Amino acid sequence: MPQAPLEPGTLYLVATPIGNLEDITLRALRTLRECSIIAAEDTRRTKQLLKSHEIDQSVISYHKFNETKRSEELLNRLKNGQTIALVSDAGTPGISDPGGRIVQFAINAGYRIESVPGPCALTTALPASGLPTEKFHFMGFLPHKSMGRKKILDSLDKVSGTLCFYESPYRIIKLLNELQELWPNSNVVLARELTKKFEEFLRGSPIELIEFYSKRKPKGEFVVLVHRP
Ligand code: SAM
Repeated sequence: MPQAPLEPGTLYLVATPIGNLEDITLRALRTLRECSIIAAEDTRRTKQLLKSHEIDQSVISYHKFNETKRSEELLNRLKNGQTIALVSDAGTPGISDPGGRIVQFAINAGYRIESVPGPCALTTALPASGLPTEKFHFMGFLPHKSMGRKKILDSLDKVSGTLCFYESPYRIIKLLNELQELWPNSNVVLARELTKKFEEFLRGSPIELIEFYSKRKPKGEFVVLVHRP
């Protein structure tokens, strides 16, 4: 069945793979192929994705260092009836990446937003973690500085459900130590390198995972899930 053409003046939020290039929907590919222009957090990465699917399309950058200036230009394009596909570095635009700002600007200016769903590290990690999924609390990245982190973690003490964080390999041990201090009896799952060759789910208490990483260096991208009994 032929699909309806893209709607003029719409900002499409297109989810792209978080590692495995096969994880992209037919609709995402069609949107990337048929839109007027793609606004990408990392143009090089997006061009690789387009090349692997033989899509010839114009790509401009949209990242945290040019978002204000670029937003004006994108809104002008929407005003002229163009269709824009926003893609982030990986996963769903707007989830812990710069996509959120342009969505706000576009809504405030009265333009249509359409979400083209697909991969997201959070929703890939949580169901496979084995931790409760009925209720969860997504925190994205914690700040880098210890005081800021402590303040946020303390504020989560009474929050029920599985806590979900994004964390870099450089701060994963720091986070495990913080969890050990606050919730030593918690069940923690480190979902690492999801959808990639070295995908791994490490399960244990904070101290068990600290012990695990005392013998090797944390590598790759992590989603950290925490359930407190
Ligand atoms: N927008 C993305 C999404 O939909 O998940 C997230 C972007 S955020 C800048 C990047 C963080 O997401 C990484 O530091 C890591 O915490 C998590 N992440 C992204 N890809 C991942 C993967 N393949 N495996 C585990 N975590 C991943």
